Amino acid sequence: MGSLVKCDACGHRSGTRPTSVYWRWQRADMAWKGYYGRLCPACTAAKVLPLDVDYSEGGSLTCPQCGIGTEDDYDAVYLTYFPAGRNQESADAPFCGVHAAEYRLWVTKFARDTDDDVGASKPRRDGVSAAQTLKALGRDPNVGR
Ligand SMILES: [Zn+2]
Ligand SMILES: [Zn+2]
Repeated sequence: MGSLVKCDACGHRSGTRPTSVYWRWQRADMAWKGYYGRLCPACTAAKVLPLDVDYSEGGSLTCPQCGIGTEDDYDAVYLTYFPAGRNQESADAPFCGVHAAEYRLWVTKFARDTDDDVGASKPRRDGVSAAQTLKALGRDPNVGR
């Protein structure tokens, strides 16, 4: 299956298994936001892979978009993604303010807000679905909403 899935970002069918991506960042009001989307290889190559930079070797942080130094002041976007058929990867992107805003805007246009359902970073509450709640109340979820 998989190959029938449309890319959340560009709307094209990926033709191969999509890459599932979770994005997280902290907003200016300190609240953490999480988003989820499935990307085709082209969007993954354009928007995800460039962010997977290893900064651990003592180099200073730079915005992955424009290359400006962000060592002392960055707006990070954290990614966890699952390239088709491969292991989980992650990337921490120390964007400058301008490009953090731009990137976050791009994500929020199409990605699903995981705070509205069982997000990756929240405790799961499986088992108590709306249907079960209705049944517990003595109502048939399939009849008369
Ligand atoms: Zn795409
Ligand atoms: Zn930048």
